[in-house]
Amino acid sequence: MSELTDLTIASARKGRTDKEFSAKELCEAHIKTIEDANEGLNAFIVTTPELALALADVSDQKLQKGIGGELEGIPLGIKDLFCTMGTQTTAGSHILDKFTPDYESTISKNLLDAGGLMMGKLNLDEFAMGSSNETSYYGKCLNPWKRNTDGANLVPGGSSGGSASSVSARLVMGATATDTGGSIRQPAAFTGTVGIKPTYGRCSRWGVVAFASSLDQAGPITRTVEDAAIMLKVMASYDPKDTTSVDIEVPDYEKSLAGGVKGLKVGIPKEYRMDGMPEEIEQLWQQGIEWLKAEGAEIIDVSLPHTKYALPAYYIVAPAEASSNLARYDGVRYGLRVPGDDILSMYENTRAEGFGDEVKRRIMIGTYVLSAGYYDAYYLKAQKVRTLIKRDFDEAFTKVDVLLTPTTPGPAFAPGEKGSEDPVEMYLNDIFTVTANMAGLPGISVPAGLSSEGTPLGLQLIGKPFDEAGLFQVAQTIENAAGLLPAPDKWW
Ligand code: GLN
Repeated sequence: MSELTDLTIASARKGRTDKEFSAKELCEAHIKTIEDANEGLNAFIVTTPELALALADVSDQKLQKGIGGELEGIPLGIKDLFCTMGTQTTAGSHILDKFTPDYESTISKNLLDAGGLMMGKLNLDEFAMGSSNETSYYGKCLNPWKRNTDGANLVPGGSSGGSASSVSARLVMGATATDTGGSIRQPAAFTGTVGIKPTYGRCSRWGVVAFASSLDQAGPITRTVEDAAIMLKVMASYDPKDTTSVDIEVPDYEKSLAGGVKGLKVGIPKEYRMDGMPEEIEQLWQQGIEWLKAEGAEIIDVSLPHTKYALPAYYIVAPAEASSNLARYDGVRYGLRVPGDDILSMYENTRAEGFGDEVKRRIMIGTYVLSAGYYDAYYLKAQKVRTLIKRDFDEAFTKVDVLLTPTTPGPAFAPGEKGSEDPVEMYLNDIFTVTANMAGLPGISVPAGLSSEGTPLGLQLIGKPFDEAGLFQVAQTIENAAGLLPAPDKWW
């Protein structure tokens, strides 16, 4: 039955409706691949096969009656940052030890209501802080792709490493992910999958463990652009429980897939051509330009002059918000509690033991930039830079419909290869992706080819606010031209 796990969501939906297989069979096939893979890939923090099978039974009954939902019987993974009722939610952190929510995040509820099967909770960097999944308390997750030059195991990217790895390795058909500075798009690029970060406000943040509230946005990781369109349609909704959720119609994204790019204006921001960028990234970008040109798009050079300030400003805004959001983990309300002589030492012991090094670094930076005397110099200034970055995009979008850039400045690297001496080396992974978060814009990463090391590379499209449909339209053209990547060779 292993071929069932090779199906896309779109083809599985059809096969299931045509009664070629049942939701239960589809579910069982995925449970088996997960069992075989989890020791090697460590993509799941916890698996929930009993729950998935129970949901599959309900799906089969609904399908029998012809009342199946949009994702009825489709095996999905949920990043362990989304609160799931009755299933532990750790955010990849020791401090949320054994925390089991008695509520369901709006997004995972939307997916369950549409008939999706939750196969388990996916690994991630602790509190979504990282670009390699190496900061997870539950151990690193690996990329199913290996480097063909030296056979090295690679990171799947982060923070949504488990989401990207599990989709790429065919353990689930799609997964939820979140993106504060690139955590959907960068892991998608590293694993040959499609990842879209919608416009800020498109998907509800309710029930998603907060990292940096003004930047966090959830979205799907899937194997095709069509599957991303199907999943985002279900995930997106207006939610009064999230005051930043926007009450705007969610279009039927599948309808935009066949639109093509004829007459569309595609902007190429010159500031994304960086010193020291590998030649193959430049070539990939050029290839993307040629593909779109060949389909009738008009290519226009644009400038986003404040791009170079995006990463430094992000590393002020994101830690500032994180230091405030993470103040709630004090050993009283959630998860871990490490006793002390008095309440203050209990707080201190719990936070000292519960948080990992990267999270502590962010809390310290955030507390510093918000402290009296430094607030104006750092936080306020970063917010002003943010406005300038947003203005650059506004200006560019008066001339073009969409922007094309590489997703990452390089291919997937091996665990330990980046950031152990200098954290900034790791932060630089997000150089092309943080800008969209700072401006609240939608961005998608599409697989576009292989590196000289035989590993996937992605191209990124950034769109106008709430124009996810436009992104899917252009992304489909790129996918058609690039062709789908083969499944990674199974070594796990
Ligand atoms: N890598 C970035 C960081 O560590 C972004 C993470 C994310 O998007 N969640 O902050």
